[in-house]
Amino acid sequence: MNQIDINDSHYAEDELHEECGVFGVYDFDGNDVSSTIYYGLFALQHRGQESCGIAVSDTEGPKGKVLSYKDMGLVNEVFNPEKLEKLNGNIGVGHVRYSTAGSSSRENAQPLVLNYVKGTLGMAHNGNLLNAVELREELSYTGAIFQTTIDSEVIAYLIARERLNVPTVEGAVLNAMKKIKGAYSLIVMSPRKLIGARDPFGFKPLCIGKRDNAYFLSSETCALDTVGAEFVRDVEPGEVVTITKDGIKSDKSLCQKNTARCIFEYIYFARPDSKIDGMGVYESRINAGRILAKTHPVEADIVVGVPESGNPAALGFSMESGIPYGNAFIKNNYVGRTFIKPKQEQRESSVKVKLNVLKEAVAGKRVVMIDDSIVRGTTSARIVSLLKAAGAKEVHVRISSPAFLHPCYFGTDIPSEDQLIASGHSVDEICEIIGADSLGYLEVDKLSEMICGQTGYCDACFTGNYPIEPPKIDIRGEMG
Ligand code: SF4
Repeated sequence: MNQIDINDSHYAEDELHEECGVFGVYDFDGNDVSSTIYYGLFALQHRGQESCGIAVSDTEGPKGKVLSYKDMGLVNEVFNPEKLEKLNGNIGVGHVRYSTAGSSSRENAQPLVLNYVKGTLGMAHNGNLLNAVELREELSYTGAIFQTTIDSEVIAYLIARERLNVPTVEGAVLNAMKKIKGAYSLIVMSPRKLIGARDPFGFKPLCIGKRDNAYFLSSETCALDTVGAEFVRDVEPGEVVTITKDGIKSDKSLCQKNTARCIFEYIYFARPDSKIDGMGVYESRINAGRILAKTHPVEADIVVGVPESGNPAALGFSMESGIPYGNAFIKNNYVGRTFIKPKQEQRESSVKVKLNVLKEAVAGKRVVMIDDSIVRGTTSARIVSLLKAAGAKEVHVRISSPAFLHPCYFGTDIPSEDQLIASGHSVDEICEIIGADSLGYLEVDKLSEMICGQTGYCDACFTGNYPIEPPKIDIRGEMG
């Protein structure tokens, strides 16, 4: 059996990342929206921590004037009151981004602003296209010059090009959607309209909110709460919504019966105080813990969650099993982009710097430890060893997702099979590698129960049942 060196440099890489978060506002009363977008992005920071940006425009001002600012860093590192004050406008879009290695640069930050003969477009995109390479080539042959390496620019070009053939920008978005294949939630700002669109499978979330005379589009409802907006409804998979002074118009001509909403949003990505497509993220995590307690019961003295997403699942496990819930980990939440990762020869480990164990909570006890997933296994191994070093008698690991067996092509960085521990090892082998006393995963057929019987979700990273045929070449790495 392959042994994994738990001191190797994979620590830093053994975390999954969502790729992006999007947020848009149109204030009909003419109030500036940049600071509202700032707070919206701040609430979506968990969806992307490498770069961020805001683009705004004045719907009563000259057409084609868009003010924007974007840079590498967290929202509160990139923006300050002076920068926000310069971004005047009553309509705008914002974006937070995480990228995989190699594509992390200021040019690839969003929103994208595109000038073309019909005016100016501002666009923010969450997701990943499967046919971006072909489309990029096609567009390049007909004269397009790309400034970035991200898929989002391909979408923006297609929209601009389609706009020449149809009378409205929402019609252009719809036509562009017919050409692109993959996962996307989009917010497009034209001089007088805010448009939201979700791909026909609905991989990525997008919802609508309202506050006084302003309308919002957001990746998650937690950002609506933060800016004091009411949740209106989710944008449906395949739907295009157009927000103008006359209200919200909807086009559902691309909506289809088969949807494939990312189930991992509920397990890990989304914030627990968000609701996606009518299902509370917190509730789904509690449900996952309850199911684990029924399917993988164990005698123990305490149930603990690995922060953050493991905590509600641990609470659910405790409620179902009657084993007391406790806190075993103290997390340092201030690990930002500039965090200097310890080198191998240093005595500090990345995990230990981020997470410390409360010895008095676990010493001499049989511990059930709930985590959301195991990717390479390095982090799980290290956390189990921290619990044992703190005196835990037994550590029983329960995972609130099924085992990762396949990569994701739809905008999350689940790596290829050779890097997924479950792809080459049995559950017993993984249990031994991570040093646990027992190990149990949530079963694939329990995912629907976790979200209260809803169906129409993607579970391809667990099952290999890709809703869209995966590309022949690995196109991951340039996600938006
Ligand atoms: S493959 Fe997994 S992570 Fe990717 S969209 Fe599907 S469920 Fe989500």
